Amino acid sequence: MEIIAAVVQELDGPFELMKLELDEPGPGEVLVRIAATGICHTDGLARHGDLPFPLPGVLGHEGAGTVAAVGSGVTEFSEGDPVVIGWPSCGVCRNCRAGEPRYCSRLGEVLAGGCRLDGGSALTRPDGSSVSSHFFGQSSFATFSLTTATALVPVSAGLPLELMGPLACGISTGAGAVFNTARPHAGAQLVVFGAGTVGLAAVMAARNSPATRIIAVDQHESRLQLARELGATDTVNVTEDDPVRAILDICGGPADFALECTGVISVVRQAADTVGMLGTCILIGGAPAGAEFCLDHISTLWGKRIIGVLGGSGRSQELITSIMDLYAQGRFPFDRLGEYFDFADIRTALDKSYSGEVIKPILRMP
Ligand code: ZN
Repeated sequence: MEIIAAVVQELDGPFELMKLELDEPGPGEVLVRIAATGICHTDGLARHGDLPFPLPGVLGHEGAGTVAAVGSGVTEFSEGDPVVIGWPSCGVCRNCRAGEPRYCSRLGEVLAGGCRLDGGSALTRPDGSSVSSHFFGQSSFATFSLTTATALVPVSAGLPLELMGPLACGISTGAGAVFNTARPHAGAQLVVFGAGTVGLAAVMAARNSPATRIIAVDQHESRLQLARELGATDTVNVTEDDPVRAILDICGGPADFALECTGVISVVRQAADTVGMLGTCILIGGAPAGAEFCLDHISTLWGKRIIGVLGGSGRSQELITSIMDLYAQGRFPFDRLGEYFDFADIRTALDKSYSGEVIKPILRMP
């Protein structure tokens, strides 16, 4: 079928809206009419080559929409069902079988291989040449997406479908790092570095945990203000204070958990230095390819844990569904982060995301 997609032709190239041909759903596949899709910094990492994705291709990995058609063997979804397109995985490797699909052994292929797992892109130009599809199993910068039934998460009636796309990546990544990985104990002190989508989702998740101190660290006062409104008990503006010293002051010593959501290497060190004995530093933000960091060796021996987390860990179905429930109950107001743009304004939306003007741009499809 004919669709309209935002194609990136080459590294650092612009998004160009054009007509493409999308395959009909095969066995186990589902065609989703995209209602709206979030834009995430990971799309930028792929466009710049830090996350290798064969170009030309279609990015976008926070899609929500309605089921338009299902392939053979798909029984759990039917036409018209509202869905979020969640994390893809092979389902049969050692890690998938162990209940850790975020760490699917074929992760590179399922996220950024540019085609289905069994080979073959789903997208072609009118001249018959191939365009990479299936970015994070979905390539949602398009009016329609071809994905697999196993990745879909149903959306309850009554929830605003256009808002739900960011649950596929940014919001789940921050929330899952708290719910699945940190699992803060009663009275825990938790620090979040970076008050963008991921960091603010972590703040909202921590607000739904027994942690009693939630510190947000950022360089923009407007974001720190929003962090306080969403549940941060304290904030540190790095343009005014040394964050490590400020956090040790606020906590009366080291914090229990530090969540690094910026991907900036100097901040990784700061995050590791704010937790002490038996403390946990969780690395979430994506740094440019090849980036390395170093830590103080002796203080790391003090039972300190440094853990990397992808996509919020756990299964995306459970995580996304629970955040939708918390949102419906008024306990996770992530609508405060979103700002809508027309699909045709994708470049403006991306620019405003990079400048920090908009926290979570969401593209509405025509
Ligand atoms: Zn797998």
